[in-house]
Amino acid sequence: MTRRGLLLILSSPSGAGKSTLARRLMEWDPTIRFSVSATTRAPRPGEEDGREYHFRTRAQFLDLVDQGQMLEHAEVFGNMYGSPRGPVEQAMANGQDTLFDVDWQGGQQIRNSALGSEVVSVFILPPTIAELDARLRGRAQDTEAVIASRMAKSRDEISHWAEYDYVLVNRDIASTEADLRVIVMAERLRRRRQPALVGLVKDLDREFEGRNA
Ligand code: ADP
Ligand code: 5GP
Repeated sequence: MTRRGLLLILSSPSGAGKSTLARRLMEWDPTIRFSVSATTRAPRPGEEDGREYHFRTRAQFLDLVDQGQMLEHAEVFGNMYGSPRGPVEQAMANGQDTLFDVDWQGGQQIRNSALGSEVVSVFILPPTIAELDARLRGRAQDTEAVIASRMAKSRDEISHWAEYDYVLVNRDIASTEADLRVIVMAERLRRRRQPALVGLVKDLDREFEGRNA
């Protein structure tokens, strides 16, 4: 008997470090599957179709939504983003954990979906806004206009922090990553996520019976 996979949701204002944390968490445990979102935004240098995102036209994206293939979708920074449903349901059934890098709208929709009972949500805060700005610039992948619009949205994203199960302040990346691992380890150990315990406890009971006979 295997447990259903966890749906681990990471959200943060852009630049706080969630992609970095997601990458490091999956290096630590390669069985964690990344939910590759579909998006209408253009690929950044180095991004590959099917790896970071499925890059789609707006018409293609809306078709997927109409066909019910999106677990959730939202408009973020003027582009559509969404999490394909099929791979998530399959991973869950196989007992494989799925990691989502989605904004607060995606987090809310997944939490309120039929799969919501397996959601573990984590919000990443930056230590300061100056640091958030510096990290976005340091990434050097966006134009000045894109950086300005992402900073403008940060306040709105941060206002949803209290909707999450866990909140991490990403000061030092290694210690934030260590905290994230602890969350994953503890959530996997929840009693209801260990269905095999029922059989084990029955065996323990039988063993007691044998000793008493
Ligand atoms: P997000 O996915 O939230 O937009 P990224 O993971 O792309 O953010 O991080 C933005 C930038 O900040 C990257 O250049 C990353 O290397 C850097 N970064 C992430 N976490 C830290 C940290 N704790 N300290 C310093 N720089 C960080
Ligand atoms: P970026 O363009 O920087 O990769 O992502 C921009 C924002 O969109 C981030 O806050 C990211 O978490 C969010 N995002 C990425 N994929 C999805 C998705 O599938 N659904 C939702 N709702 N948000 C997403």
